[in-house]
Formats: sequence, structure tokens, C-alpha cells
Amino acid sequence: MGDDRRVQVLVVGAGLSGLTAALFLAQQGVSVLGISKHRGTSPHPKATGQTHRTVEVLRRAGVADEVLAGGAGLDGGLVIKVAESLRGRVFHTVVHEDDTWDTSLSPERSGMASQDHVEPVLLRRARELGAEVVFETELVSLAQDDDGVTARVRSSEGEYTVRADYVIGADGHRGVVRSFTGIGRQGPGELAHHVGVVFNADLTAHIVPDKLTLFYLRNPAFTGTFVGTNTARRNVFTIEYDPARESAADYPARRCTELLRIATDAPDLEPEILEITAWEMAAWLSDRFRAGRVFLVGDAAKVTPPTGGLGGNTAIGDGYDIAWKLAEVLKGEAGVGLLDSYEAERRPYAKLVVDGSYANYVQRFAPHLAGPDVPAEVDHLHLTLGYRCRSNAVLIDDTDTALMEDPANPSARPGFRAPHVMVTHNGTEVSTVDLFTTWTLITLNPSWRAATVPSLHTPTLTDPTDTLAKLYNIGLTGAALIRPDGVIAWHTTNPPTPTTNLSTTLHTLKSL
Ligand SMILES: Cc1cc2nc3c(=O)[nH]c(=O)nc-3n(C[C@H](O)[C@H](O)[C@H](O)COP(=O)(O)OP(=O)(O)OC[C@H]3O[C@@H](n4cnc5c(N)ncnc54)[C@H](O)[C@@H]3O)c2cc1C
Repeated sequence: MGDDRRVQVLVVGAGLSGLTAALFLAQQGVSVLGISKHRGTSPHPKATGQTHRTVEVLRRAGVADEVLAGGAGLDGGLVIKVAESLRGRVFHTVVHEDDTWDTSLSPERSGMASQDHVEPVLLRRARELGAEVVFETELVSLAQDDDGVTARVRSSEGEYTVRADYVIGADGHRGVVRSFTGIGRQGPGELAHHVGVVFNADLTAHIVPDKLTLFYLRNPAFTGTFVGTNTARRNVFTIEYDPARESAADYPARRCTELLRIATDAPDLEPEILEITAWEMAAWLSDRFRAGRVFLVGDAAKVTPPTGGLGGNTAIGDGYDIAWKLAEVLKGEAGVGLLDSYEAERRPYAKLVVDGSYANYVQRFAPHLAGPDVPAEVDHLHLTLGYRCRSNAVLIDDTDTALMEDPANPSARPGFRAPHVMVTHNGTEVSTVDLFTTWTLITLNPSWRAATVPSLHTPTLTDPTDTLAKLYNIGLTGAALIRPDGVIAWHTTNPPTPTTNLSTTLHTLKSL
């Protein structure tokens, strides 16, 4: 049987991870087909909130402002409360973050947009850049050989075959790509079953204006959550149920309304219920993120409890990471060994995210599970801006085992994110973050020009405040080699010697 379609990359799934991957592959000129079995992007608000790092990624796609606009009205930050009801007894205020506008660590602020706003933005931009994304098209089988992957897909027009160099499994929590590759997964597994109710009601008198207020609710009638969204009057309420005794069908609109009245302390509330869906809170980590030519991203690779707000953010992070690496390999600018760095970097990160979010879950939802086996909580900023990539695509001293650092005190060691510093480039003030569109050498020492190679972008920079020299720990002599994703790949405080050869360093990093 011949192949009906031929593409470089097939992306299975058009949620946050798949759309991000498709977008950044298309941006690099890679031919990409995205398929989704759903009718369109998510109508459900689901993951709300973008970290500074996520918004930096969106900035590279030219859609940061459009995404951030989706959170307008909630720019005052995030409040998380464990309480009896919206106006009842507060057991614990978990966080009161107000760093939305803090741009000292990034040229971008963090965002408050929800998934139903973000996905259409990513879809539109991916298509603009040349990605083909089709809905109501389901993957039915997958087989790979040494030269590529053959997928069988089904749409309303019938079944057809897609032959691709690589496949990205972005098909979510219950994805089939992982099953086709035989990759297993581990973790605490299913934690809780929830009925999610999306509804409209005017609750302005109950919630803090300008802030996203997330309530973990515990009272004699139910356990659940309540959160506002960036759509006026739109809110999401979830109720936990025990699948041994009940099912989601036991929660029709009438019962949900009764419980909502208890949650909001508004006995007369008449919510306009838009959707009632069942979903599971779970914690899973796939044993591998790659099987040959197939890569897992987002929820297909790991499922994290939402208690950390990182499911959506890491979906975007995974999609971006595999996209730039695949693009380099497919364009012949890097060797296939660069692809090994995807699992090496993203899986330990996913583990930290799942563990940290599980620790939050125990603290906020299930104190009875507390014990020595529960992982430690992780600082949010350290995790999102201070995480270290460790793989063959960074040159780290083996004795230096640190996995995270405080991004406010960056060390500039390889593997960490290159810090945001305002510098003067071509007479204009720019953030260093915007310089890393390709492999880039950051230095204030002109003698490095003789040691560099044409494929290495070496901008001429001035550093009027000495901040670059200090935060990049390069002084006026050294240099830092930064990857296209803004991660420090190699670093020295020394000037070049006559034998310094950055070509060899670059070849090693790119597995050429
Ligand atoms: C009710 C709910 C609330 C949530 N709240 C939060 C939150 O507050 N914070 C947070 O960070 N995260 C939250 N999450 C999790 C967050 O939504 C996910 O982490 C995120 O959607 C993962 O994105 P993804 O692209 O990996 O997968 P998904 O968004 O699940 O997308 C999967 C895609 O794969 C497609 N697909 C599946 N199977 C096939 C197939 N066989 N063939 C073709 N296509 C297929 C689907 O159509 C879809 O396009 C929530 C999730 C739910 C369900």
C-alpha cells in the first residue's frame, strides 16, 4: 500500500503541546501535519496561567501579547485558598502571588490566560507559518522502521496513510501513541475523580477583583475546587466523587447547582451551566519520552496534578523543545544525537514538576496522605526559570550536580537559562533573551571574534551597567555559548587562546 501523505513531522494531537510543536516546526520551514480527533481546540478553560518562561517561548512565536490579552482583568496575580466555601472559613492561604508584572527576571510578565483562549492563538499562528492542522482526524495505528514512521489515520473522508520522518505524540493523558510504542508509565496514578462544571454567574461580590482566585473547598457537603476565568462571569467548579460509589452521571445540573450554592454561600444562585464533564486528577511519568523516531510531549509524556499550574506550561515547553531540536536535525544543522537531549532534559524536569505538584496536592487536598514518601515541595520560580538542562547538548562539569538555582542569583553555568539582561545591540536596547534566535556567543571581548565560526551568531554588545559582564560571569574576557532555546551550553571566564576552536565545541554540542 502506498503512502497517501508524506511529511517531515506528524504531530498527533492539537492541544497546547501539539500546537506549540507544529508552530515552531513550521517556523523553521519543516513540513508538518497536525491531527486531532476533537472537533476543534478546547472549549474548556482547563489550564490557566503562563509562567514567565512560557511567555518567553510565546514571544518567539510572536504571539505573547495576544496570549497575555486573554488574561486581561486578572493581571493582579493569583490567590489560592483552602476554605470551607467562597465566603466561609479559610483554613489556609497557600499563595498570594503578585509577581505578574515583575520583569526583573524576564522581558515578559507572566500571564493569566486560559486554555480556550491560548489554543486558538497557537492554531492560527501555526497555520500562518505553514503548518497543516486538521481536526476530526484520529490516529488508528503507528509503525516505525529505520527510515521513518507510517501512521494510519481516520477522518470522516475515510482512512489514509501518512509517512513521516518523525512523529510527535501530543495526544494527551489517554494518548494512544505511547501505547503503540510500548512505553510504560509510573507514579501515584489516579488521585481523584472530579466532575467539572463550567458555568456563567455574576460572582463579583465573592471573589477578589483583578486576581485569579483559586479555592480548594472542603466542607461536609463535598470536596472540590472553584476558580474564575478570564471570561466575564465564567467560572469553573469541580466536585470530587468516589468512583466506587458514584459516577459522573450522578451529578446532573440540578445537583451541581445545589452544591454550587453551598460553595458560593449564595442560596439563590441561578448559574447558567454550560458544560459538565468528568476528569481525573492524576500523577504519571512515562518511563521514556522517546521510542526511536517517536517522541512524547505534554500529557502524553507525563500527567501532573493541576496543583502547581504546570500541566499547560510544561506542555508548551515540551512542544517547543522537541520542535527546535527536530528542526535542527531535519535541516541538517545538527546530528541525530541532538535528539537524545530531549528525553535527557525534559524527563527529569517532568519528574520534578509531577513530584512538586503531587506534594502540593497532598498539602491542599489530601493531608491524610502526608508522610515520608511524599516528595518535597519545589520553589515555583526555581522550577520555572532556574531549572537546569543536563544532556549531551550542554557541556557540564560532571562534578557539578546542581539541578536548580535561584534565577535571581544566576550562576551562568552551562545548563541553566541564560539570564535576561538589557544590553545595547546595534544602537538599540534589547533583552539578551531576544538575541538567541540561533546558537549565539555572548562576549564583551572582541578577541573572541577570531575564535568564532560563521554559523555562530556573535552580536556586538555594549553593557553600560556591567550587568551582562556580571550576570553572565564573563567579565570583559570570557564568553558564553547559548543555544537557540536560550540555555547556556558552554561557558568560560577566560579569553581565547590561539588554539581555541569553537567549531569543535559547537560540533560536539550539535552532535555533528
Ligand atoms: C478539566 C481540566 C482542568 C485542568 N486544569 C488545569 C489547570 O488548572 N492547570 C494546568 O496546568 N493544567 C490543567 N489541566 C491539564 C491541562 O489541560 C493539560 O496539562 C494540557 O491540556 C496538556 O496539553 P496536551 O497538549 O499535552 O494534551 P491535551 O490538551 O489533552 O490535547 C490532546 C490532543 O490529542 C488529541 N488526540 C487524542 N487522541 C488522539 C488520537 N488517537 N488521534 C488524534 N488526536 C488525538 C486530542 O484531540 C487533543 O487535540 C486541566 C485538565 C483538565 C481536563
